[in-house]
Amino acid sequence: TFVTFEGGEGAGKSTVVPKIAKDLEEKGYETLVSREPGGVASAEQIRAILLGDQEQILDEYTEVLLFAAARRQHLVEKIIPALEAGKVVLCDRYLDSSLAYQGYASGVDMEQVKMINMFAVQHWLPERTIFLDLPVEIGLSRITKNAREENRLDQAGIDFHERVREGYQLLAKEDPERYRIVQANQSMEQVEKAVLQYIQEVLG
Ligand code: C5P
Repeated sequence: TFVTFEGGEGAGKSTVVPKIAKDLEEKGYETLVSREPGGVASAEQIRAILLGDQEQILDEYTEVLLFAAARRQHLVEKIIPALEAGKVVLCDRYLDSSLAYQGYASGVDMEQVKMINMFAVQHWLPERTIFLDLPVEIGLSRITKNAREENRLDQAGIDFHERVREGYQLLAKEDPERYRIVQANQSMEQVEKAVLQYIQEVLG
């Protein structure tokens, strides 16, 4: 069973995912936790190109291709083998991140971003996608000062994150079968409980 987690900065994905893994392990499921971009050596190298502190700004199509390439390698090396071994795979970000960030927020044509990403993942789509939704200003106030500086939080930066959120809200609306929205502005216990319930729907 393949479950992905999506959301903007400070939504709490990296906090809740290990908790969910622990809950599921206690119920007897084998799990694999991973995150994107990265997750395997070559994809981590691509992550460093994408998110490292290099001076030059990458072309936006190059970005789409690199995220998709990292996604593909991570899928093949790590996710598919775990799914084939019967594990519940919990992945922090997957193709919807590209649709929201590169497609919706950065303004690369959405259909083209979808096409590149469908090429990368083929039929390997998650059965469940949990969108941790949070007002942008709260999310940004949660991330560390350094990360905040990296994210250049001028008005343009804030508008960008607003578009990311809008993008996810739209994607969730377009695919209600796969998507579940969890309000991330609740206690971690409440978030965890809601997420677990939504995952159990697909575990049967
Ligand atoms: O929040 P997390 O650590 O998962 O994301 C890493 C960074 O990568 C974030 O700052 C996010 O904005 C960025 N990202 C992106 N496009 C993607 C995936 C992640 O810009 N497709």
